[in-house]
Amino acid sequence: MDFGRRDIALTSNGDKWDGKKLTETRDKYSRTRASLQRKASTRTRSSRRRCRRILVRLSGRERRFQQWMNHNISKAIIEQAKQQNALIAIEDLTGIRERTNKKTRNQTERRRSNSWSFFQLRTFLEYKGLREGVEVIAVSPAYTSQTCHCCLHIGLRSDKKFKCGNCNWSGDADLNGAKMISLLGQSVNLPRGSSYLCCSLSTDSSGLLKSPAMESLG
Ligand SMILES: [Zn+2]
Repeated sequence: MDFGRRDIALTSNGDKWDGKKLTETRDKYSRTRASLQRKASTRTRSSRRRCRRILVRLSGRERRFQQWMNHNISKAIIEQAKQQNALIAIEDLTGIRERTNKKTRNQTERRRSNSWSFFQLRTFLEYKGLREGVEVIAVSPAYTSQTCHCCLHIGLRSDKKFKCGNCNWSGDADLNGAKMISLLGQSVNLPRGSSYLCCSLSTDSSGLLKSPAMESLG
């Protein structure tokens, strides 16, 4: 499962939780907040007090909205995993802000990527997983976005597309990320550990470079 800026969450099955509608809702909150903050600093004392009170109420509402969304997302993911007897691999989120902020250009973008509570989503996933008997593991996100999930070579990532120069797989960059996290999750869960998930090069009959991961996972 890949956490992102464009989609809140994307699973290796291709299910995603679109961030667009959420972004709209949160932009609305943000605009209202900005206008209230302006008023709170210019008008009379009583109207300033009123503005501050509304701001407090607004922040509670926004927090509850986010919490509600995270509950729904995590519930759907856990239910699906339970049905398929799958485990859930998520990115270790340390540094997600730095990473999602890397490409942001303006303040609006920065606010958007900073304000989604991925940590809360992860917490919800973990406790729901515990309750339903679905294992949730965190894997290191290093290179998941640049590594090809088919052959484990470093590929080219543009904003939304990923292209592998080795096996020629190309497609949605976030989906590739989700599939990489899934691979890492499976490797952590194997008795052999993660050692087999390395890109040792062997050439198959077609002359294409292959990694052991392709053979074991199909
Ligand atoms: Zn590849």
